[in-house]
Amino acid sequence: MSAPNIETIVSLAKRRGFVFPSSEIYGGLGSAWDYGPLGVEICNNVKQAWWRWMVHERDDMEGIDSSIILNRLVWKYSGHEDTFSDPLVDCRECNARLRADKLNLTEKGKEELIVAGHHELADLPETERTLKTWALNIKDGRLKCPNCGSTNLTEPRSFNLMFRTTIGAVADEDDPTALAYLRPETAQGIFINFANVLTTMRRKIPFGIAQIGKSFRNEVTPGNFIFRTREFEQMEMEYFVRPGEDERVHQEWIDYCFNWFITLGINASNLRFYEQPKEELAHYAKRTVDIHYRFFPEREEDERQWDELMGIANRTDFDLKAHSKKPEDAEGKRINPDSTEDLSYFDEATKERYYPYVIEPAAGVNRTVLAVLMDAYSERTNDKGEKRVILKLHPSLAPIKAAVLPLAKNKPEIVGMAKAIKRSLQPTMRAVYDDTGGIGKLYARQDEIGTPFCITVDHQSLEDEAVTVRDRDTWEQERVKVADLQQHLLARLQPAVRSEQGV
Ligand code: ATP
Repeated sequence: MSAPNIETIVSLAKRRGFVFPSSEIYGGLGSAWDYGPLGVEICNNVKQAWWRWMVHERDDMEGIDSSIILNRLVWKYSGHEDTFSDPLVDCRECNARLRADKLNLTEKGKEELIVAGHHELADLPETERTLKTWALNIKDGRLKCPNCGSTNLTEPRSFNLMFRTTIGAVADEDDPTALAYLRPETAQGIFINFANVLTTMRRKIPFGIAQIGKSFRNEVTPGNFIFRTREFEQMEMEYFVRPGEDERVHQEWIDYCFNWFITLGINASNLRFYEQPKEELAHYAKRTVDIHYRFFPEREEDERQWDELMGIANRTDFDLKAHSKKPEDAEGKRINPDSTEDLSYFDEATKERYYPYVIEPAAGVNRTVLAVLMDAYSERTNDKGEKRVILKLHPSLAPIKAAVLPLAKNKPEIVGMAKAIKRSLQPTMRAVYDDTGGIGKLYARQDEIGTPFCITVDHQSLEDEAVTVRDRDTWEQERVKVADLQQHLLARLQPAVRSEQGV
């Protein structure tokens, strides 16, 4: 079982302190969310699981943490200033502001394949091609507003998604010399540090550089809770390989990433691969495969139930070349006259110099948290016929690992023993003490937030130095000696099973 829809998670998340609407006391801020006491723990656990799997468990990986605000030239040569945009459309009937690539097909459009018969457009530069393609589809009545169904839509225009800011104490807010952007992806911070990492860590190709950090996109249509927001966090890795090796390594990473989500406890039937068709590929990509999660199980049409959780792209040698000072165009002019570095690689073994190809698995922290919460959601009816929510999170992701509960809160010896047990667990796991209700209520509360173990201290514990450990998923209880408790729990809290290292 998984959550029937995102709304179920929105209400659970707010009620139990995972995620709150941001700036709520001032009327909120569209599509911005704050992570509460349990939300910050689950985000940290997802990031730790990724970092351990991606960096610590491998021999061919380094991590970095680059700046959010970079020299503007990074975004000029990466292509973001020119092409990082969405086709923006307005509905003339209901005034909705929409993304052309997210419009619904009309009956007419369903009958004809989008872009069929417009092959001549394929030769245009990416932004222009997309705009012209969407414009034609709108003009020919193939697309309609998802809000009101009207086909009376404006021509699409290009809207750059990068947030702008200014650096320093500038007199004029439009001063182009002070213009800077908040990064829309963490990847470029890795490319510009390629040579630094290569030399300081004495690396040889193939190897990868991983980074986790905030990214910002002025999305045209944010929404669906934490699925699409303007501020979000990414986990990205750039893996540098010899040209010619790229296709094999790309496929290995695709499989390897899929398995990672399985080790987080996500049900394979809620995951799928999505091969991006040629028209959808970013201008730098040779092939991109996305991993989709069933974020919208309530939708009737199967195809509309899925959306992207992670993208795994073969970015070719586009980025390292684009940031290098040497490459020249057909007329012998330097493509990048501003760079001071050449990011090509000299292979000692073969005595060849080349620009490495890059394989990039890129996932969102927030989307992963949403997928994990949806997938863990389950309901069960207890003996009294009451419906209980159980969040069957993988133990390594659960915000709280153990809740220590006294069976009688008016017995100082029991309370004292329970608090001492909680304190003894705290150095190795997130443990809490709770005596604010009857035991049934306390269990239900912990089940709902995904705590794998409830530890109950009762009268007998005072005599036999043992406690009851209750399992969240089976509701089974076993008696464990206090002296063995920590080891017992740690063994069952093991990080996600290490998946086969395919690469
Ligand atoms: P989409 O098609 O959904 O806009 P994208 O293809 O532009 O996503 P990438 O640039 O490949 O996304 O980013 C990698 C990952 O970062 C995505 O798979 C997603 O998990 C996450 N991500 C991207 N944009 C957002 C956003 N606005 N809010 C939350 N997560 C995001």
